[in-house]
Amino acid sequence: MNTHSISSAELPAEFGRLSQLPRMKLLEAATALEPMPNLGRAVGSANLFVKRDDCSGLAFGGNKVRQLEFYFGAAKAEAADTILITGAVQSNFVRLAAAAACKHDMQCHIQLEERVDKDNPYYRSSGNVLLDRLLGATIHSFPVGEAEDAADKGLEDLAANLRRDGRRPYVIHLGPSHPPLGALGYVVAARELLGQIASMAMPADQIVVASGSGNTHAGLLFGLRAMGSDIPVTGICVRRAAELQRLRIDSHCRRIAELLQIGSPVTDADIRLDESVLAPGYGYAGDDVMRAVLLGARKEALMLDPTYTGKAFAGFLRAAGARSGTGAIIFVHTGGTPGIFAYENEMADAFARLSAEDTGSRT
Ligand SMILES: *Cc1c(COP(=O)(O)O)cnc(C)c1O
Repeated sequence: MNTHSISSAELPAEFGRLSQLPRMKLLEAATALEPMPNLGRAVGSANLFVKRDDCSGLAFGGNKVRQLEFYFGAAKAEAADTILITGAVQSNFVRLAAAAACKHDMQCHIQLEERVDKDNPYYRSSGNVLLDRLLGATIHSFPVGEAEDAADKGLEDLAANLRRDGRRPYVIHLGPSHPPLGALGYVVAARELLGQIASMAMPADQIVVASGSGNTHAGLLFGLRAMGSDIPVTGICVRRAAELQRLRIDSHCRRIAELLQIGSPVTDADIRLDESVLAPGYGYAGDDVMRAVLLGARKEALMLDPTYTGKAFAGFLRAAGARSGTGAIIFVHTGGTPGIFAYENEMADAFARLSAEDTGSRT
C-alpha cells in the first residue's frame, strides 16, 4: 500500500483519548492547502504546496491557535479566569494567548523574556509587542532568555500573587517537563491535512515545518503516523541544534502517547531534522533566510518572518531542490506575520543588500 496517499474514508475518525481531552474551539474552519505554481517555476520544482496555518483566523493567526485550543480547554476545565504565559519579546504564542483570552473574557498576563539581544526599537515596541498592548494583556518582563524552568518559576510566582488577589490563574508552561498539550492541536491538524491530501490528484512526498518548541512538529508527525500515513516530515531547526531538538521531539512524542493513552507510532527514523539554516541562531536571519523571505513574498505573496517561517521556508526550498519524487511537497506556514514589523531594520538592510540579485522582483 502506498501510505503516502490514504483516502479520506480510510482515516480513523478518532484514536486514543483525543476527543475526551478538554478543548476550546479557537479555529473556525480548516486552513487552506494552496499550490505555489509561480514559486515552482522560479525554483524548477513542481507540485509545491503551502498549508496556510498563518491564516488561522484569530488576531493575525499562526500555529499557536491550534495549540491554544488544548491549553484553553484545560484552563476552562479548571474554571480559570486568568491565563499566564511566557515567551520571547516578539512571541507569537503570547500574542495569540492574549487574543484568545479576550475572546473568552479572561485576563492575560504575559512575561516577555530577554531571549534576543536587540537594541532595535521596533523589536521592543512594534509587531507582537504592539498587539499584546492593543489586546490589553498585562506585560511583565523577565531578564533571561534561555532559562525555561526559571521562566516557568516566574509565572508560578505571578500566579501565586494572583491567587492571593482572588483570581483563578492557569499557567501555560514553557519547559519540556510539562505535558505538551499544544502538540495535540497538531495531532488534530494531521487529520485535516491528510483529508486535504487525499483529495489532491497526487500523493504527498514530504511535509516541511518549523521546529521550535517542537509541539507543531511532534504533533503533526504523531498524528500522521497514528493515522497510518508514512509521509516524511522534516523539521527545520529554528531554535536549537538538531541533536538537541531530536531529543525534544522524541520526548514530546512519548508524552503525546501518554496523554492519549496509546503506544507511540513514531520511530527514531521518523524524526527528520535540518539545522542548516539555524545560524546565526534563534531570532537572527542569515542571507539565505532573507532570500527565502523575499522569494516567498514576490512569487506567492506569502508573508514570512525572519525568526520562524523565513527559516523554515529556506529549509523547504532546500528540500524542494534535493527532491527525487514528483509528488507534492508541503510547506506548513506557521504564521509569525507581526514579526515582520519588528524586524523592519533587518528587512530594509536585506532589501538593500540582496537587491542586486534576482530575488523575484518583476521590474
Ligand atoms: C512558535 C512558532 C513556530 C514554532 O512552533 P513550535 O510548535 O514551537 O515548534 C513556528 N512559527 C511561528 C510563526 C511560531 O510562532
